[in-house]
Amino acid sequence: MSAPRRALVSVSDKTDLVPFISGLVELGFEIISTGGTRRTLHDAGVPVMDISEYTKFPEIMNGRVKTLHPKVHGAILGRPDLADDQAAMAEHEIIPFELVVCNLYPFEETVAREGVTVAEAIEQIDIGGPSMIRSSAKNHAYVGVVTSAAQYDSVLSALKAGPLSEELRRKLAAAAFEMTARYDRAIANYMAGVTAEGDEDAATFPQTLSLDYERRATLRYGENPHQQAAFYVEPRAGESTLAATQQLHGKELSYNNLLDLDAALELVREFTAPAAVVLKHNNPCGAAIGDTLAAAFEAAYAGDPISAFGSIIGFNRPVDLATAEQMCDPGKFVEAIIAPGFDDDAFEALTTRPKWKANVRLMSCPALAEQRPESLATRTVGGGVLVQTRDDRPEDPAQWQVVTERQPTDEERTTLDFAWKICKHVKSNAIVFAKQGAVVGVGAGQMSRLDSAFIAAHKSEGRAEGGVVASDAFFPFRDGVDEAAKAGITAVIQPGGSRRDDEVIAACNEHGMTMIFTGCRHFRH
Ligand code: 5GP
Repeated sequence: MSAPRRALVSVSDKTDLVPFISGLVELGFEIISTGGTRRTLHDAGVPVMDISEYTKFPEIMNGRVKTLHPKVHGAILGRPDLADDQAAMAEHEIIPFELVVCNLYPFEETVAREGVTVAEAIEQIDIGGPSMIRSSAKNHAYVGVVTSAAQYDSVLSALKAGPLSEELRRKLAAAAFEMTARYDRAIANYMAGVTAEGDEDAATFPQTLSLDYERRATLRYGENPHQQAAFYVEPRAGESTLAATQQLHGKELSYNNLLDLDAALELVREFTAPAAVVLKHNNPCGAAIGDTLAAAFEAAYAGDPISAFGSIIGFNRPVDLATAEQMCDPGKFVEAIIAPGFDDDAFEALTTRPKWKANVRLMSCPALAEQRPESLATRTVGGGVLVQTRDDRPEDPAQWQVVTERQPTDEERTTLDFAWKICKHVKSNAIVFAKQGAVVGVGAGQMSRLDSAFIAAHKSEGRAEGGVVASDAFFPFRDGVDEAAKAGITAVIQPGGSRRDDEVIAACNEHGMTMIFTGCRHFRH
């Protein structure tokens, strides 16, 4: 008599379990389970044997030891066609498992909860589960290992067609090792934080930084056609990140599109009023807030219509028809749009009317208003990565200081606040000219602040009269302020802190300008 087909099932997350296991039973599998899993199956009317009936050894220590038994691991690791293994199985009454279904105690979810004690976290370190999973993955020549509910459907349909193929067993094994590696990394990071006495940095910066990202897509090419590229995402990327956005329409996203879309998303989330931002090469060339989204878009695009040609547009409201119609204007060309959704008629307009209708990438971001999840910003350098917390400390205008004889008017204050938000998202040295809630000139990425001021003035084409300037770091000399005054700027916002602050303040007073020191720098290198 041949051995029965057996599946060992021990899952912490019981989502979708019953239909899957019922399917296995229909295919002739005998099911063996640990306590909680057995109860769930039994209560749903699925025939199931308790693991201790098979091992003749009870679960002990409140479940700490359930499957850690030679009859379990022998049944997983045994090679039924090897004489030695066969003999051992016969001697110890071990029946091989064809399938192991297991997912782990929710360690990451537990430690992410506020106020969890170390003891509680330790209890959520699964030992038997990963052991079982690793045994199965090692012996994938004989065993299929299922570690996620997302695999249930495909595994069940494969089994309906016959025993699992070697290719599928190998894929499942690779996914299993991936899963246990990530699980152990999360535990190691947590433990490093717990044990790093006196090392306050450890909670944010673990001893070992592992970049556990999943490949979302390979891209046609990188920044340039001769570079290969791919997009990787965090497995638990937050709702309001680029990773959570969905492409609704248009040509495949390029590496540069993704960079610009991210920059657009990060900038536009700064505003609560209807806002539109126009990105080129990671810098805003236009941005505006308005009473309506259409008004914001019109003002944003008008900021620098030449640069805006072929731009990425970001919105903080769903795109409505009036805004879409503005974008469809024959003189405009848009590469991609990211917004928290598109009204049906707006979507229809954008995908049927403009010349670029077939290509334009329409991206929907689900939850823009939600606070951005905490995460570290990383950047590669030769042989390593630089890691920092994000530049997202909430701004507190109550701490800002007016350092000039003249106080800003209400309108100046509003526009200074707007320009300061934009400035943070412009490559250093950043100089932003703005007027009436819209950018009129940007100087980005220059090696001197004066050159950035020249460029912002040039871009503003005489529209800066009565406007404001924001600078991402202090003016080291008065020349930048003089340049702004020449363009008609009346108000300045900058961190302050230069050795020559007095000179710069004197220059403002001379020009009748008002100036705010924020005390906070926003370099973006
Ligand atoms: P159940 O809800 O069936 O009682 O428990 C299922 C969970 O127990 C699974 O997440 C599985 O990984 C875990 N598990 C299986 N065997 C052992 C063991 O020997 N010790 C511990 N601590 N957990 C185990």
